Amino acid sequence: MPHWRRGTQEADISSPPTRRRKKPKFGDTRQLFAALRENLATGTASLADFAKLIAEGLVANGAVIYITRPGEILELAATYGLNVSAVGRTKLRVGEGIVGLAAASGDIQNLPDVQNHPRYVYRAETGEENMASMLAVPVKRAGRTLGVIAVMSREVRTYAPVEVESLATVAMLLAEILSRAGASDVGEEGFSETLPRRYAGHVLSSGIARGQVLAYGAAAPIANLLTEDTEAELKRLEDAVEEANKTLDGLITANIPGGNASRDVLDAYRMVAQSSGWLTQVRAAISDGLTAETAVDKIARQLRERMRRVADPYLRERLADIEDMVNRLMVALGGMAPKPERADGMVLIVRRLGPADLLDWHTRGIAGIAIEEASASGHAAILARALSIPALQVERGAVEAAVEGELALLDAEEGTLVLRPEPEVIQVYDHALAARNERAAALANYRDVPAITKDGTEMTLMLNVGLALELDQLDRTGADGIGLYRTEIAALAAGGIPDVAGQAAEYGKVMDRANGRPVQFRTLDLGADKLLPGETAQTEENPAMGWRSLRIGLDRPAILRRQLRALLLGAQGRPLKVMFPMVATVEEFRAARDLLEAEAGRIRPTPERLEAGTMLEVPSLLFQLPGLLAEADFISVGTNDLMQFLFAADRGTPELADRYDTLSAPVLEMLEKLVTYCQEAGIPLSVCGEAAGRPLDALAFAALGVTTLSMSGGAILPVKAMLVEADLNALRPVLRELRRAGAAGGSIREPLAVWAREHNLAI
Ligand code: PEP
Ligand code: MG
Repeated sequence: MPHWRRGTQEADISSPPTRRRKKPKFGDTRQLFAALRENLATGTASLADFAKLIAEGLVANGAVIYITRPGEILELAATYGLNVSAVGRTKLRVGEGIVGLAAASGDIQNLPDVQNHPRYVYRAETGEENMASMLAVPVKRAGRTLGVIAVMSREVRTYAPVEVESLATVAMLLAEILSRAGASDVGEEGFSETLPRRYAGHVLSSGIARGQVLAYGAAAPIANLLTEDTEAELKRLEDAVEEANKTLDGLITANIPGGNASRDVLDAYRMVAQSSGWLTQVRAAISDGLTAETAVDKIARQLRERMRRVADPYLRERLADIEDMVNRLMVALGGMAPKPERADGMVLIVRRLGPADLLDWHTRGIAGIAIEEASASGHAAILARALSIPALQVERGAVEAAVEGELALLDAEEGTLVLRPEPEVIQVYDHALAARNERAAALANYRDVPAITKDGTEMTLMLNVGLALELDQLDRTGADGIGLYRTEIAALAAGGIPDVAGQAAEYGKVMDRANGRPVQFRTLDLGADKLLPGETAQTEENPAMGWRSLRIGLDRPAILRRQLRALLLGAQGRPLKVMFPMVATVEEFRAARDLLEAEAGRIRPTPERLEAGTMLEVPSLLFQLPGLLAEADFISVGTNDLMQFLFAADRGTPELADRYDTLSAPVLEMLEKLVTYCQEAGIPLSVCGEAAGRPLDALAFAALGVTTLSMSGGAILPVKAMLVEADLNALRPVLRELRRAGAAGGSIREPLAVWAREHNLAI
């Protein structure tokens, strides 16, 4: 390992680089890396040597290296071309001057006329008055800003993309070197390490978690940065590609027994992930003198940077696939650790998270989750609620700033993530945790209280369940049954659809645990964001509206029939309720019900009573109600999907999360009509989307006449505690008035909440 001295080398200011004998080409990366490698190999190079090499390599008149010190200070640690006496003396706050700006923003500053930039700060001791242009690049590693490296020229010029890229690569190398050399030698570990950082967020699953940061996906230190043996590195890359291929093959064979469609999807994924474009860039970086893992890391950083700017979700997904491949390659090259076995008590901070991954982390013991790209009605959020894992969708930057192993406070009540919290803040949260526990104890008293409102309306409160471990909630909450059993969740957890016997055993167990209480089993609702491990939604532009759910079931009836058989077998003669998701036409419902009846004709014992119901998630059904009500035995409104289709607003897009409200005139109007139709036809109606578990929404639904609500386990007692105090007769005229006033489609949440608070309802 090279030993780095503080930079005190005198630069030869009298002989500017332009007069040197051997003039390298602008941005000749290969030559610069060769020189760096040579210097590193001697093991005695200083930061000043480094600065000199960079200035020469990039044909600049000066170079500076600033290192981060505690208290968000950047200290000049080495220079070439400026006054060496300024080393150790010139200090800038993070955010001060152009160097401070690069550190604060994390962005490269390429300024042809730096001295006239509004943020420029002149420091006389550096002797930089002759410098006209500057290229400053933050030196970052695993979320920490370790410093800033900059080159300067006397002429007014914008640095060319190849020079920018070279300096960015040098910054990456310097980051590795600084973090390896350690704080005692060249500097502290970066400003982000010492000071707390706060990130605002939307609550996905309420709760509070306090634990060590787990920043999965952050790169491990790379052992060898530069290489002489380009051929060997290229070979290592090809081997890693092959190995990543093999793991993909393994995923396909293990998880998709005979499923051609999914196989197509995975093959398409593989094509994108291995598209020659970015791998060619990796090969080019290796040819410049980087090791295979450094080259993959470098291109991955560029991809992430690009990904931040891409608005088109389809394109973003393509880039995400490449990133997935990057991770596989980094693991194969030994540049990234596989997932840790255990993550007990830790707070996971990630860019995005699928439901399968969330389950995986849950089994490893994760205590809380912060996701940059998620929304409350996405399935990761639903699962987090089901598993009572506090989860937040946090603003961008948290992943970048998170440092593995440091303390994090995830407040999924107020919606904040605090990295490196101050001791006083920790104390406040410890109190909040205690208060939360007290509240939970008080709510537990409602378990055996009948859910009857003040005006005498009997409410039925049911559970939404996806995992066996949620069945405990039946007794813990005193729920009236299971209004929505999401069968696909077990498949996601198992990494594939179990065979008929496996499924039948699962469904039988659920009915055993329900112990006579009704269970509405929903058939597999896979697709969109509920993908089995290894599957990606490659082939469709709008997967939520694509070939998913019952549509797959009807087109590939073998899978659906197997599941229906398993349900009948699991019931063992007990009453059975089967519900179909994503039904768009009465015809589809009929086809599904016919399959159920055909299977029921074969299985013995026949259920004591067999009911076929439908989810109402697709708006087209609202215009086929007479036909639907003549055929369906029950209806359950899935507000999550129905809202996204009603308002044409993707349920997984954070920017749209608060844009449209279930508590708005059009939705309430729709529900009211539905209630009337169902009552007239004598068909039971329930609401099982996430809205049913929000006390204020539940209150409005109840006032409209929806008497059965199905929700996640954590919501039952708070909703019940609110309902038993509510007088729906008193609310109805108020609600009518609010709806009239909000007829333009806006939310009536605020005024309704005011009414509820005035009537002492805990919403
Ligand atoms: C819904 O869409 O509201 C629903 C309950 O189903 P899921 O959330 O599983 O799509
Ligand atoms: Mg749905």
